Amino acid sequence: MSNVPDNAPQHCPGTESQDAGKASACAGCPNQNICASGAASIPDPAIDIIKNRLSNVKHKILILSGKGGVGKSTVTSLLGHALAAKNPDINVGILDADICGPSQPRVLGVRGEQVHNSGSGWSPVYVTDNLSLMSIGFLLGSPDDAVIWRGPKKNGMIKQFLSEVDWGELDYLLIDTPPGTSDEHLSAVQYLSKAGLSGAVVVTTPQEVALLDVRKELQFCDKVGVKVLGVIENMSLFVCPNCKTRSEIFPATTGGAVQMCSDLDTQMLGSLPLDPLLARCCDEGTDFLQALPNSPAVIALKDIVDKIISACESA
Ligand code: ADP
Repeated sequence: MSNVPDNAPQHCPGTESQDAGKASACAGCPNQNICASGAASIPDPAIDIIKNRLSNVKHKILILSGKGGVGKSTVTSLLGHALAAKNPDINVGILDADICGPSQPRVLGVRGEQVHNSGSGWSPVYVTDNLSLMSIGFLLGSPDDAVIWRGPKKNGMIKQFLSEVDWGELDYLLIDTPPGTSDEHLSAVQYLSKAGLSGAVVVTTPQEVALLDVRKELQFCDKVGVKVLGVIENMSLFVCPNCKTRSEIFPATTGGAVQMCSDLDTQMLGSLPLDPLLARCCDEGTDFLQALPNSPAVIALKDIVDKIISACESA
């Protein structure tokens, strides 16, 4: 992980360099004084605390998307349910770190639940016996509260989330992040640098405007040293429930995620169809896997989950 801050000037020497705050590139940088004093190079003690806190979590996976609205939160909840449904002995946690749009409590049907803080930390909310959730949504007075938060407050919340939730033993922790590559992503990656991330799963839709942002997301992962476990193409195809006609709602004019993955040598994990019943289940907070176990989306999802498990095992 580079020690060059996100808002750094073009030739920033990095916070750990002897020239930090003193190089000509530092002139005018708002961080110049703090870098020159050496304070910026002191590693945040939270990194070690998070490493200890997450030592019982086997695989930590970031769920990323280039744009909002491509179904990242929906896919995260589906992956959580699908991993937990594979085996009752597999324990799965979802950390809803999408600070400005925490939708997991609704999608997982646990809106309005209370989280409890005890001596060992915050207890997550249990969706099923082996699927737990912690979300900023549980802590906000009003769902609109976090929208106006500035970067440092959001980063503080990510730090608190990673260091203070008592997950117990987990096989998989899925971290649902905000869309794009913002301060929150850099913070999460930095805080997890010692705890060990298995990698990232990137969610997209097939059209070029979405893929453009996914390429940036993949570059981000490369820059910060996060392995990309693969890409999921969501809402690829719509099959009319009445006439069974297949339509491309978001046409893949440039070959969609399959072509992009082959161009960039990244694993394509699979495609999920657009299914209005899935959208309804998410709005109602019901488990789509149980409601429609033989639907094309669930069949595709099971295959995707198997690929994620093998990618984690070999990470
Ligand atoms: P994001 O987290 O990327 O902003 P969401 O997961 O909130 O996106 O999804 C946006 C909307 O699209 C939601 O209403 C959700 O129910 C719907 N949606 C997502 N994926 C699908 C799908 N495969 N089929 C039908 N609706 C979907």
